[in-house]
Amino acid sequence: MNGAATTKVAVVGGGIAGLGLALSMAQRGMACDVYEAVPEVRELGVGITLLPHAMRELAALGVQPQLEAVGIENLESVFFNRYGQFIYREPRGRHAGYAVPELGVHRGKLHRILYEQALTVLGPQHLHTGHRCAGVEQDVHGATLHFTAPDGTRRTPVHVDIVIACDGVQSTVRRQFYPDETMAFAGINTWRGVTRHTPILTGKSYLRVGSIETGKMVIYPIVDDVDGQGRQLVNWMAEIQGDSRSMNDWNQRGRLEDFGHIYKGWRFPWLDVPALIAGAEQVLEYPMVDKDPVAQWTFGRVTLMGDAAHPMYPRGSNGSAQALIDARTLAELLCTTADPIAALRDYEAQRLPATARIVQTNRTTPPDFINTRVDELSGGKPFRHIDDVISQDELRRISEQYQRIAGFSRDALKTP
Ligand SMILES: Cc1cc2nc3c(=O)[nH]c(=O)nc-3n(C[C@H](O)[C@H](O)[C@H](O)COP(=O)(O)OP(=O)(O)OC[C@H]3O[C@@H](n4cnc5c(N)ncnc54)[C@H](O)[C@@H]3O)c2cc1C
Repeated sequence: MNGAATTKVAVVGGGIAGLGLALSMAQRGMACDVYEAVPEVRELGVGITLLPHAMRELAALGVQPQLEAVGIENLESVFFNRYGQFIYREPRGRHAGYAVPELGVHRGKLHRILYEQALTVLGPQHLHTGHRCAGVEQDVHGATLHFTAPDGTRRTPVHVDIVIACDGVQSTVRRQFYPDETMAFAGINTWRGVTRHTPILTGKSYLRVGSIETGKMVIYPIVDDVDGQGRQLVNWMAEIQGDSRSMNDWNQRGRLEDFGHIYKGWRFPWLDVPALIAGAEQVLEYPMVDKDPVAQWTFGRVTLMGDAAHPMYPRGSNGSAQALIDARTLAELLCTTADPIAALRDYEAQRLPATARIVQTNRTTPPDFINTRVDELSGGKPFRHIDDVISQDELRRISEQYQRIAGFSRDALKTP
């Protein structure tokens, strides 16, 4: 018999990793309790892209129909230079032969769908909002978690057998094991917004325009027909690697004057980028940060998962997939291993090297390396035709190389 049926498991953080883990465990007949800092789950944030390997995991958790109902299925991924000239296009998701779609969704809606599924499957008694983890202690008998309530008061400590820290990029639990660690910032700042806009290209196109060195835009739709007149909610993210290296403050509203000038000439026959930016109701700013991969996630009865374990640049739209794969991997191990502490170690051995490679690849050769490479070869100047600069086969190789490393090549996803 495995040890999981009687093991008391605490999951810290009710984001994509935490809720994914709770649902994966419940599917395998195991209970756990999720402790989430925020007092109530609200639909916050802007867009997120769910690549086929994320959708495979979400489909297995039973939420594919709900996600398809609120998102937009990508038909294609298209790359342009900063003059609006076409570089490369490839079909995506089911249009590329995958069994599952690639979706653009509102992040808040994804979270709401996972939370409601967890309420149904686990029951509200296992989901504890308003519990901010302040620290964890452990000995041979078990682990003790300390929490504060939203008003800052201490809650009664919780005693469990194992703890999975899914508390995100600013993880409190990780800080306990790596107290001197800081975010890695390489000078890339981003501004994000959502604009009501007529459909761009196919209305199901994921666009990367320009390169990070001189200014890049990522643009994709996340909600169809928001006004009954066919306009969509279009998510956009401006990314620029600056010389100043001062880091955007993610607690502040973004200001158009800090980045709008980079895009002021970007008026293409198929899109007016300054108008897209100006149409956003609000602009958020973030620094693009990650952390250097570490050698250890599991410390006795405690392990790290999702962004707490392997924060990565969002340049590959890949973080949620890795969090969900972590979750399923650990749930399977807990279900089949007699000793839950050994399961935590095996989980680390299976997942740490693969995700460390993705963290590094997102720094050096993410999908938008295509744009960077074309800029290098063209000297950053307009070209007559992309074939004069680089072949479509070579661009496809760059794209497929990333898909292989990130684990969503068609071959990898043939395996159930
Ligand atoms: C700008 C940006 C764009 C992105 N775009 C994409 C994309 O298109 N596709 C994609 O797949 N990924 C994308 N990602 C990455 C993705 O959002 C993350 O990888 C994913 O959210 C990780 O899930 P998580 O559960 O580990 O962390 P989170 O989603 O951050 O969840 C952590 C949870 O823990 C809670 N928490 C924090 N501290 C505590 C505490 N002390 N105690 C209790 N609870 C706590 C938080 O409130 C939160 O609910 C993007 C990331 C960023 C920053």
